[in-house]
Amino acid sequence: MHTFHKPIQITIYLTLLVIIANGLIGCAGVLSEINIFTDKEEIQLGKNFSQELEKELKIYQDPVVTTYIVELGQRLARHSRRKDIPYYIKVVDTEVVNAFALPGGYLYVNLGLIRASENESELAGVMGHEIGHVVGKHGAKQLTKQLGFAAVAQLVLGKEQSQMEQLVAGIVATGTLMKYSRDAEREADGYAVEEMYAAGIDPEGMAAFFEKLLKLQKTQPSQLGQMFSTHPPTGERIANVRAQIAKLPRKSNLRKDSPRFQQIKKRLPPPKKPQK
Ligand SMILES: [Zn+2]
Repeated sequence: MHTFHKPIQITIYLTLLVIIANGLIGCAGVLSEINIFTDKEEIQLGKNFSQELEKELKIYQDPVVTTYIVELGQRLARHSRRKDIPYYIKVVDTEVVNAFALPGGYLYVNLGLIRASENESELAGVMGHEIGHVVGKHGAKQLTKQLGFAAVAQLVLGKEQSQMEQLVAGIVATGTLMKYSRDAEREADGYAVEEMYAAGIDPEGMAAFFEKLLKLQKTQPSQLGQMFSTHPPTGERIANVRAQIAKLPRKSNLRKDSPRFQQIKKRLPPPKKPQK
């Protein structure tokens, strides 16, 4: 832990300098755009979070399913704008249709999301979106904005256990670390399209899945509550994603589905009673 004292002190100074500099040139609301933590600090923050969080989650263990999800996630991460950090990907044994990311590359995919995805590109769309939040460093930025730099620095150091427990309780209840801004959601969608396209997966899958969620919301909203509150798939987002895809050079070999995805789906245990 001591190794983190120095970088944090340095980043505090840098942050103050940047804030002063921005104050001088009169930028408003710029704090959320500054990356205040080093990668090493952000990864440590995510690690502390994941250790606390996994006390509360039931991690799904079937190695055939988890290997597939890890490989799909790593493939997207490898094609992202942030491939220089390790990604940790786990499957959560819950029927809630959702996935979420912690700072520093810790990604959780719910069984319910795998089940709700009709093909690989739909699942990859949501996973790509979560990786997009990691790429945009949205978790660390949002935490810093809401709690302040000093409080987050304490979390990096593994201190402030009660604050950590409170945040983890929030994740368990809402399926996300913090509510991201509309801009952050749009940015994560954009990164997801890039990742999917570069990884050879049809990015239309993301738009198609969002569209399906919008329709499902009207007919059976019970299992979709969290997904909607944390990453609301609006018509505007779907249109933005499709506009971005339309600008990409045509690629003939983009994959919509894989036999392996369908095997994984068949392998899943029967769904448990819906959770409230
Ligand atoms: Zn999101």
